[in-house]
Amino acid sequence: MATRQPATDTPVKRKSAAQVALEKLGLRTPIDLALHVPMRYEDETRVHFLAEAPVGEVVQVEGVVTRCDVSFRPRRQLVVQIQADSVPGADDRQVLTLRFFSFYPSHQKALAVGNRVRVRGELKGGFFGREMVHPLLKSPDAPLTASLTPVYPSSAGLPQTYLRKAVLTGLSRADLSETLTPDGLKRLEALAGQPIWPLRDALHFLHHPTADVALEMLEDRAHPAWLRLKAEELLAQQLSQLQARRERDAMRAPVFDSVGNTDLAVRLLALLPFQLTAAQARVSEEISADLRRPVPMHRLLQGDVGSGKTVVAALAACRAMTAGWQCALMAPTEILAQQHFAKLVQWLEPLLAETGHTVAWLTGSQTKRVRTAMLERVRNGEAALVIGTHALIQETVVFDRLGLVIIDEQHRFGVAQRLSLRRKLTDMALGDARSPHLLMMTATPIPRTLAMSYYADLDVSTIDSLPPGRTPIVTRVLSAARRDELVTRIREQVLAGRQVYWVCPLIEESEALDLRHATQAHAELSESLGEDTPVGLMHGRLSPSEKQAVMAAFVAGTLRVLVSTTVIEVGVDVPNASLMVIEHAERFGLSQLHQLRGRVGRGTAASACVLLYESPLGDVAKARLRAMAQTNDGFELSRIDLELRGPGEFLGARQSGAALLRFADLSQDDDLLQWAREQAAAMLQHEPDWVARHLNRWMGGKVEFLKA
Ligand code: ADP
Ligand code: MG
Repeated sequence: MATRQPATDTPVKRKSAAQVALEKLGLRTPIDLALHVPMRYEDETRVHFLAEAPVGEVVQVEGVVTRCDVSFRPRRQLVVQIQADSVPGADDRQVLTLRFFSFYPSHQKALAVGNRVRVRGELKGGFFGREMVHPLLKSPDAPLTASLTPVYPSSAGLPQTYLRKAVLTGLSRADLSETLTPDGLKRLEALAGQPIWPLRDALHFLHHPTADVALEMLEDRAHPAWLRLKAEELLAQQLSQLQARRERDAMRAPVFDSVGNTDLAVRLLALLPFQLTAAQARVSEEISADLRRPVPMHRLLQGDVGSGKTVVAALAACRAMTAGWQCALMAPTEILAQQHFAKLVQWLEPLLAETGHTVAWLTGSQTKRVRTAMLERVRNGEAALVIGTHALIQETVVFDRLGLVIIDEQHRFGVAQRLSLRRKLTDMALGDARSPHLLMMTATPIPRTLAMSYYADLDVSTIDSLPPGRTPIVTRVLSAARRDELVTRIREQVLAGRQVYWVCPLIEESEALDLRHATQAHAELSESLGEDTPVGLMHGRLSPSEKQAVMAAFVAGTLRVLVSTTVIEVGVDVPNASLMVIEHAERFGLSQLHQLRGRVGRGTAASACVLLYESPLGDVAKARLRAMAQTNDGFELSRIDLELRGPGEFLGARQSGAALLRFADLSQDDDLLQWAREQAAAMLQHEPDWVARHLNRWMGGKVEFLKA
């Protein structure tokens, strides 16, 4: 008779709530825990004499309870007084008052008059003497700790005691062996002018610093232990970026090196009503040089608003098309994509007609019938150029011979969109196929240190001057109380044949925010300007065809004034517009204001931007508006923006997707970054095993994400 074996499967382990909370903080492996350094420390290594204890800090004090009773004024509370111990040899006994606004019988019992107690809490020095509110009660017999007590970044359901134990376990299990090469260490030591601590020592110290350490050094991240972490982190970041670059360099790309008078680029240049500026010609040549190489280009073209990036993109597209490849141009908004489409069709369709090629248009909002027809043209190669929104990178879009992808205003695309583009490009490179070249454009320049750090795998071209004949935009900051004066200004502009933008931050009535929304502004402006001056209204709730109709009327000049939400923020190009009014300017970010302002000053007329603000202004908003009034230089504004917001928010707002640096601070660690760059290059060249170990420690499974 067969005996049935009892099931011996290991029981499914249930994760405790604390474990789940740990994972939510991203703490999964021993090294994750080891690198989860304290945000601050508490000093439980000593008991202060009250007479010597620093006010404003968390301290421990001992003494004897002299009073403990419930008071009802100003509100119900347990008031306790302690006669604190005096400094030996001195007669400086002082009274410490403890207040508990919520308390239990156990408190009253532990704090009964005559008891000796130790309390820990923030010491306050008020009118009524020294106080602590809700201090922790400890037994006076409890042993003092030998090192400072770490306080970790945590979340609900994750007590410090649990976290401390978990970190200790992590520290004992993580592989903390040396991953810097002897040469890298030597260079780092030379740079720092001091010995570099081993990672193991650095981490043990940061988690449990000895009591004699200067806390400022830990808090300012100036301690040698911090130096080790910063250097390793920056090295990991540079390694992963350089590695991504190498992977790309190993892919094959189409080569566009046709010449002669069939060259579309040459013919486009002859057609243009203007000459390229020296800066445009230079970046265009940088791009061409990339396109003649058999590895995929990965280039960021930065140029201030109005510097003329579109024509540079068109020239690159011409080079792809001349060589018989397709080009895709992707823009973040439908309005912008539409505008590119109109412009490029006008420029290129006559040239393409001879070869039977067309320009296709793809967005999420087109009818199924039109979309199917467009997709077919993209698939069979009839469409040499495809313009659209992120609908371009959906799976249903199949290209015949995609050779170049251009992304306009790339910082406006989200992480998910960038990842899916990346995946699509990589898929195309599978097998023997070729990976298209990639050109990204942005008007929001990335400050140098950020570029070196987060965009180290990109090549960067910069258009550093504007087309000639532009008069600088004059910016005025004006209280919203003086809004009415503007009507005269607007009327003047319209009479002079010019056009005006009026931008509002929200479209929906929001009483809480008290914003004058676009429809109301539109009604008011229409009324004060009178019937002769038609005012358009543009906002996100309009259908694509309505948007297109409004925009077309404004481009044609039949609408003289356009009230709009920020849907016109990026890229819109109507050179005849000369006045930009921004309502509630205090609610906009600096790069957004600069982008909006860039809608004017695109022709030769003197242009102005008026920033209306609602009082009272916060300090940061004030600094932003002041910066706007002082400079038109996008690079300068970007630098100020970084200063005001810090890299986290700066990059966050761009949805960069880059894992942010946790230890290094780019505003201070410029020289470390330089070291990391050189070291990363050297390691990739000579020490692949060291690279793998280092990346494994710092990136774990996150490398893929960093490449986005
Ligand atoms: P952005 O860099 O902001 O995308 P655009 O490409 O929209 O700028 O160009 C802004 C305006 O400048 C457009 O009207 C464009 O036709 C014009 N422009 C571009 N290059 C030149 C040039 N070299 N000379 C004169 N005007 C130019
Ligand atoms: Mg543009």
